[in-house]
Amino acid sequence: MKQIKVVLFSLLLTVLVLGLVGCNQTDEEPAKETKTEETTEQATNEVEEAGVVNLYTTRHYDTDEELYKKFTEQSGIEVNVISGKDDLVQRLKDEGEATEADVFITADAGNLARLKSDGLTQAVESEVLTTNIPEKLRDDENHWFGLTKRARVIVYSKDRVDPSELSTYEALTEDTWKERVLIRSSENIYNQSLLASFIELNGEEEAKNWAAGIVTNMARTPEGGDTDQIKAVVAGEGDVAISNTYYVGRLLNSTDPEEVKVGEQVGVFFPNQDTNGTHINISGATVVKHAKNVDNAVKFIEFLTSLEAQELFAEGNNEYPVNPDAKISETLTSWGEFKEQDINLTILGDNNTRAIQLFNEVGWK
Ligand code: FE
Repeated sequence: MKQIKVVLFSLLLTVLVLGLVGCNQTDEEPAKETKTEETTEQATNEVEEAGVVNLYTTRHYDTDEELYKKFTEQSGIEVNVISGKDDLVQRLKDEGEATEADVFITADAGNLARLKSDGLTQAVESEVLTTNIPEKLRDDENHWFGLTKRARVIVYSKDRVDPSELSTYEALTEDTWKERVLIRSSENIYNQSLLASFIELNGEEEAKNWAAGIVTNMARTPEGGDTDQIKAVVAGEGDVAISNTYYVGRLLNSTDPEEVKVGEQVGVFFPNQDTNGTHINISGATVVKHAKNVDNAVKFIEFLTSLEAQELFAEGNNEYPVNPDAKISETLTSWGEFKEQDINLTILGDNNTRAIQLFNEVGWK
């Protein structure tokens, strides 16, 4: 009898427990649904609250788009992109206070410095930015911040030049290089920034002598961009060219096999390794003076300096990340490490006008 009672009690318990579990399940399901609805609503509100950031950029790479999407996923902030070329600066000027631009991204510290001196930028306080970006790669008053880094190097014909013949930018002014040097016009900001760095490191007189010496040794009157100089080396018009590193990277990683062939016929030489280092420059971002979404602008630039973003952002244009902890691409690794000029890039803007004057004085077209 006792045994039957125990069995009955156990049965009753089992039924009760099962019943409770069942109840719980049916109770929980709709609760879950309500929760999902709440989360969606909350997310929608967050997106609305998070708002937008309007970006003017002169960069156009697929990887950039990928990054903007990632930023939106993480922050809820939508990125509106307006891309252009030099006309974007004029647009920003014309729009004045009415501009919708929050962030401006462009290449060369010289260009960023011009935006600042034209009163189109504002200072930003961000510990993330000052931690992620080395001091020399950002404005000394925090108006602009480097995002990617490039070197201006000597690109040589592997057929006709032995790298042991190369040493410094200055050595390219020697007689042995007569009519062998290819370089673009002095109207180009990359050359202006290069000469601006020489003014800082070697003084005005030596900078001027260098420019005059290069004019003497030019293989032709300057024409075209950096890629055209590299192609002219391969075509035999000259033996060395001065070019930014990413142009060689672009050729080597091109989908056009002819371009890859061009890239493979040249070598990259980092000059001035035993003296004051190879010239480097950046592409970077600034918060626009009349930005309407300043907080979002800062968050966006901060995101672009994060490890995750840096690797993609730099690789999109075969550049070096500015964040020293970020990995560099295979192409860049193959060129090896190099000693950089040790100057704050703010100086490139300060010396820009003088550099242009020197170019004019020596007749560099
Ligand atoms: Fe470029």
